[in-house]
Amino acid sequence: MVSSENQRILVWLRNDMRLRDNPALYNAAEAGEGVVAVYVLCEDFIERHSTAPSRLDFIRRHLRQMQTDLAERNIPLVLLRVRRAGEIPHQLLSLSRREGCHSLYFNAEYPLDELNRDRAVAEYFHDHDRHYKRFHDRVILPPGKVRNGQGEPYQVFTAFKRRWIQMARELPMVPHGLPAVQPKALGQVSDAGMTLDSLFRGVHLKDLSALWPAGEEEALSRLAEFADGPIRDYKSKRDLPAEAATSTLSPYLAVGSLSPRQCLTAALSANEGRWDEGSEGVTTWISELVWRDFYQHVTVDFPVVCKHKPLQGHTDAFPWRDDEEDFNRWRRGETGIPIVDAAMRQLLDTGWMHNRLRMIVAMFLTKNLRIDWRLGERWFMSQLIDGDFAANNGGWQWSASTGTDAAPYFRIFNPVTQSERFDPDGRFIRKYVPELARVSTRQIHQPPPVPGYPAPMVDLKASRKETIALFQQLNGSSSKG
Ligand SMILES: Cc1cc2nc3c(=O)[nH]c(=O)nc-3n(C[C@H](O)[C@H](O)[C@H](O)COP(=O)(O)OP(=O)(O)OC[C@H]3O[C@@H](n4cnc5c(N)ncnc54)[C@H](O)[C@@H]3O)c2cc1C
Repeated sequence: MVSSENQRILVWLRNDMRLRDNPALYNAAEAGEGVVAVYVLCEDFIERHSTAPSRLDFIRRHLRQMQTDLAERNIPLVLLRVRRAGEIPHQLLSLSRREGCHSLYFNAEYPLDELNRDRAVAEYFHDHDRHYKRFHDRVILPPGKVRNGQGEPYQVFTAFKRRWIQMARELPMVPHGLPAVQPKALGQVSDAGMTLDSLFRGVHLKDLSALWPAGEEEALSRLAEFADGPIRDYKSKRDLPAEAATSTLSPYLAVGSLSPRQCLTAALSANEGRWDEGSEGVTTWISELVWRDFYQHVTVDFPVVCKHKPLQGHTDAFPWRDDEEDFNRWRRGETGIPIVDAAMRQLLDTGWMHNRLRMIVAMFLTKNLRIDWRLGERWFMSQLIDGDFAANNGGWQWSASTGTDAAPYFRIFNPVTQSERFDPDGRFIRKYVPELARVSTRQIHQPPPVPGYPAPMVDLKASRKETIALFQQLNGSSSKG
């Protein structure tokens, strides 16, 4: 048993499941006073945020790895479970008292629920004469820092990106190394909390370990492999779902077994340190990392998006259709539009979907079926192993034309044209929709009747026209009002 003297630092792990480039862990370990790590599973957050069973299992597997990796550095990992987020302040304070920790360190998370949770913990610690320190690891530039000439947040991505690059290139882009090994005598806890099995008891889990092995070694090797080759063709091939042309790092970034800074430094070193020239593949990929930061900033600058509301307030009056049967057909991948069905089945099978397809299916749901984007947003979170509030909300509000720098309401993707362009030989469709395996390449995007495969559930042209008219009415009435 460790003395109850306050001598150690408590590090609260959340979506930062890695040892390297983890500022909270690194800085706590540098103090050399001993570190205790803790993870808190919150049942209420799982329910409210519709966390996918595949993502929960991914978290579970990461925790197992973290327990081993941290133990090698004499850092014990305590596992706790709470029903409600409101219990967390008390649980963390009790733990810090019991295990002799004078301070709490954690890396920031930006959606409103998480910010409120962390504020409550910080206040509670402050009220009980304990310190806390918040670090930023989830983004390359922390929210609140990237501002236009008037000191306001950017709403247009290209302007944000220009300023972001100016600022980021001034930073020392050197990721933190491994946290220091702690004194062995300080590497014990009197109560390790729950076992990993009991932590997840009764929680619905989906094992996708064959597709998505856990851990930071896996994440770093995927990054190295991508930066070593495919990144160069990223610009020309990233929209082709049948190709393995994107990094597939999103699950690792979401759970935090990889940091965006590690991604950026790998990209820069593949491009001789150049940010916006050199390999077009690399600079295009860097842009995606900026999109990632952009949406994290949006959640802080415009917290209305965290309240199930559109960023463009007037679009809340849009007459979304409430049709459960249509929604279910979309969810199951039985719409009769091959590219949409292949994409939705990719999501069900793998917990992941290619970016071009996310845009196609989100537009189809919101613009052709006219079903509320919030239902699609929630369904994605309930299925995605890379579910991330900021990126998902940003993607849905972009597709529904309700968000910041969103797709204009009149620019509606035609899924058949998209399919012809981005899956020209139908390879992706055939992989996920076996009913269409024998249909010719010429017909695969819009097949003739095929036994066992449904006819298109909606007239693409007519529904597109109707949606545009409804948006025009909405904009007309909002500009009059
Ligand atoms: C409707 C919709 C929902 C989405 N939901 C999520 C989500 O829940 N989680 C998530 O991580 N991404 C989401 N995205 C963004 C994007 O589709 C995925 O990040 C990307 O497909 C992941 O594949 P990758 O790792 O191979 O990406 P790459 O193309 O290799 O890109 C590298 C990284 O950049 C980031 N990134 C890329 N594109 C975007 C983008 N448009 N917005 C924000 N970050 C981006 C991701 O972290 C990604 O891993 C969504 C997009 C849309 C249109």
